[in-house]
Amino acid sequence: MAEQVATNITFHEGTVSAEERIANMGQKGATLWFTGLSASGKSTIAVAVEQVLVARGHHVYCLDGDNIRMGLNKNLGFSAEDRAENIRRIGEVSKLFADAGVLSIASFISPYTVDRDAVRTLHADNGVPYFECYIDCSLEAAEERDPKGLYKKARAGEIKGFTGIDDPYEEPTTPELHIKTHEDDLETCVAKVVEFIEAQNLFG
Ligand code: ADP
Repeated sequence: MAEQVATNITFHEGTVSAEERIANMGQKGATLWFTGLSASGKSTIAVAVEQVLVARGHHVYCLDGDNIRMGLNKNLGFSAEDRAENIRRIGEVSKLFADAGVLSIASFISPYTVDRDAVRTLHADNGVPYFECYIDCSLEAAEERDPKGLYKKARAGEIKGFTGIDDPYEEPTTPELHIKTHEDDLETCVAKVVEFIEAQNLFG
């Protein structure tokens, strides 16, 4: 986990209360964290859920693994250490989004329990609602889909440390929501996530 490097810094409190922000935004910020194998359907479901909720007037924003790795986290690879730092930074970003009153949907493989639990703790320590959603898909089905050809490359040894092939995916044991994309079609998966999040009393 990252160490505090800078010294002589002091947290500067704002003066806008949580209540004022909720009234201003018409909702409470939160983080919906999608975890699952590559090609399990995280990004596909996230953008569809975002579309539905935005159309209903909610403030929602997708944080996507590959997109973030092209910007904020472009200096990180896929070693265990870099994966941990990737997730730590996104945890901090999603916490900030939530603090601003936005529901962020974070789609990251996030294969290690310890990294996911650190994000959960960060949110809990700051009183931010956090919902872990396991976008579950059998390895067989994910490999069959292989929309980016990554499993094929990993099987051929062209990608090292690929989750599910030669790097572990530690399944969530107590996610708030469990979606099975190898059993339900996309429409059903999206409806289940929307129904879940609408039931969390975030939106006024
Ligand atoms: P991830 O973000 O988890 O890597 P993607 O969303 O990029 O996965 O890709 C998932 C692929 O699986 C897409 O091509 C999508 O159309 C397909 N797919 C098939 N069934 C489903 C489903 N029930 N839910 C989500 N995606 C599905």
